[in-house]
Amino acid sequence: MRLVLLGAPGAGKGTQADAISKHYHVPHLSTGDILRAEVRSGTRLGLEIRSTMESGKLVSDEVIADVVALRLLQGDTARGFILDGFPRSVPQAQWLDDLLSEDKLDAVVELVVDEAVVLERVVNRARLARENATDVRKDDDVETMRVRLEAYKVATLPLSAYYERQGLLRRIDGMMPVDDVTAGIFKVADATVRMSWMVASR
Ligand code: AMP
Repeated sequence: MRLVLLGAPGAGKGTQADAISKHYHVPHLSTGDILRAEVRSGTRLGLEIRSTMESGKLVSDEVIADVVALRLLQGDTARGFILDGFPRSVPQAQWLDDLLSEDKLDAVVELVVDEAVVLERVVNRARLARENATDVRKDDDVETMRVRLEAYKVATLPLSAYYERQGLLRRIDGMMPVDDVTAGIFKVADATVRMSWMVASR
């Protein structure tokens, strides 16, 4: 199963990707997580992208292409993957289509959420984490969140139309309770599994 999750920052992509990953035994690939690990480890790449990430802006397509290509080369992606946070723009989606070639994506799920609610959610999450002295993402404050939402609107929203034209887009109401969102995604994923089974058994 090759699935992409789309949605504004804070829409719940990470939570849902984890649930799908556990249920279908395919890895959850989050470009944000990979990049944050680079920053934490202080690698050359980490130092290069740190300020961009902390400002809420997108890192360059070249960097992302390298990171994704390397990750997709690892053996655990042979049975599929869930992409979270990538692609984030039409050029990145075109690059991915070229990379995957015949092994096309099975579906793209967009979690549709109310922007104001998402903003409040992320800011509350950061406040709670600070109060409990746990790790807070540097980009989880109101101002940076606004930059991230703007980047989402400008670069990522056009992806919905891109994948709709390919007949891959499925929209799910991301404002529903978490378990209902998960159930909606499982329905989409089950349909893709059935479809590939039918194609394989022809
Ligand atoms: P995320 O955890 O997906 O919200 O990503 C956190 C940050 O990592 C983003 O605000 C960007 O700075 C960077 N990032 C993650 N994925 C991408 C991507 N596909 N393209 C560009 N920048 C990305």
